[in-house]
Amino acid sequence: MKTFNIFVIGCQMNKSDSERIRGYLELHGLTEIDNPNQADFVILVTCGVRQSAEDRIFGLIPNWRANNKNLKIVLTGCLALREDVKDKLTGKIDVWLPIYDLPLLGNALGLKKQLDDNYDSLTYLSFEPHYKSNFSAFLPIGNGCNNFCSYCVVPYARGREVCRPYQDILSEAESLIKKGFKEIILIAQNVNSYKSSKDNGEIVDFADLVKMVDQIEGDWWLRFSTSHPKDMSEKLIKTIADGRHTCQYFHFAAQSGDDKILELMNRRYTAKHYLDLVDKIRHYSPEAMISTDIIVGFPGETDKQFNNSKKLMEAARFDMVYISQYSPRPGTVSARLEDDVSKEIKRHRETELNDILRKTALENNQKYLGRIVKVLVDEVEKTKADLLEASGKSADFKSVKFTVADKGLIGQFVLVKITKVREFAIYGEFEQ
Ligand code: SAM
Ligand code: SF4
Repeated sequence: MKTFNIFVIGCQMNKSDSERIRGYLELHGLTEIDNPNQADFVILVTCGVRQSAEDRIFGLIPNWRANNKNLKIVLTGCLALREDVKDKLTGKIDVWLPIYDLPLLGNALGLKKQLDDNYDSLTYLSFEPHYKSNFSAFLPIGNGCNNFCSYCVVPYARGREVCRPYQDILSEAESLIKKGFKEIILIAQNVNSYKSSKDNGEIVDFADLVKMVDQIEGDWWLRFSTSHPKDMSEKLIKTIADGRHTCQYFHFAAQSGDDKILELMNRRYTAKHYLDLVDKIRHYSPEAMISTDIIVGFPGETDKQFNNSKKLMEAARFDMVYISQYSPRPGTVSARLEDDVSKEIKRHRETELNDILRKTALENNQKYLGRIVKVLVDEVEKTKADLLEASGKSADFKSVKFTVADKGLIGQFVLVKITKVREFAIYGEFEQ
């Protein structure tokens, strides 16, 4: 029996794609194994968002080749369409697979054809995934991006935005809840630009989609990621605030607090627009957790412009910020600008933003002390003191840690009384 191994780097979209690849290969009778050195096929799901992720991939391939002479390597993900990467890896990859060509993979690997003759024309999202977890699932609502932020490789790597029909999304969500899943995360590069249409021509936007999915009965949570500030409507904020299953967690990337830098990034909003959205979210959902992405050291970013990012962070009082040092990506508009902020300054700016984050996150977390919060447990591990420590997420996406008596709680909702808070986790005692 032929075997495969999947190696995934990068975002939740890549993780979700790997679940569809797993389902697809199992449909062809292949078995997944953990060791790439013993597999017939390795599927490499790549990320090209930052140079560091790319470098990691270049380092892996020669090792696999040396240890496994008969191995076939399939490269998919963000590097599959990049000509410069193809040049660099000439002769080292057996199949280059843009993810939307997944239905053609069977042929490319010489696997026995499955299903009917229309099979090759199916879209990749219509293949049934084999989810990694049995309680939390990423549910893709589309793929690609039309925004062309000047620093970002995604529109080139994943192509233009394609939205999945809302009926397909609803039926995948219904099937997940029926199977007992406790958490569904609607994902896309930009969920809130989602559009689908009904037979009568009526448009279904992201807020409408959330409302429809939210109708499914049961004890489960609905999340979404990631959203763009220019498409964050009041209708969506209210829908999330009012939903029965919707978690009060908003991740939407600011990228910078300086209007000139935002313009050069082609983000199409101002810092004021971003902060007004934060106010709106806090108005409709006062307890919501808010997180963002910020890039430091964009070409030409002066101290004054960087200070505007600090001011934005101080005003928004984020619970989490994913800070990246700018790195030029081949083919993007900003790659033509001089990458003139030194590594040292980028590192220093990242540290300064992290200091602000730690302060606001810790202050925000004080409100949890003494509260009882509902937690979806995702891990139970033995500590050095030989205790079992469970960790999970609250509805507003706080990491919660507490001691338990057995491992059986993974994938379950429990109640935890919070007794201690830190910047990026809150701690408590198991209630029930
Ligand atoms: N679609 C999401 C949005 O607009 O919010 C972001 C997706 S992007 C794949 C994830 C994050 O990587 C971005 O929000 C940005 O902060 C960071 N990123 C993207 N390109 C980058 C670059 N060239 N240098 C540094 N960070 C980058
Ligand atoms: Fe990249 Fe901008 Fe699209 Fe996000 S919205 S994936 S940052 S181009």
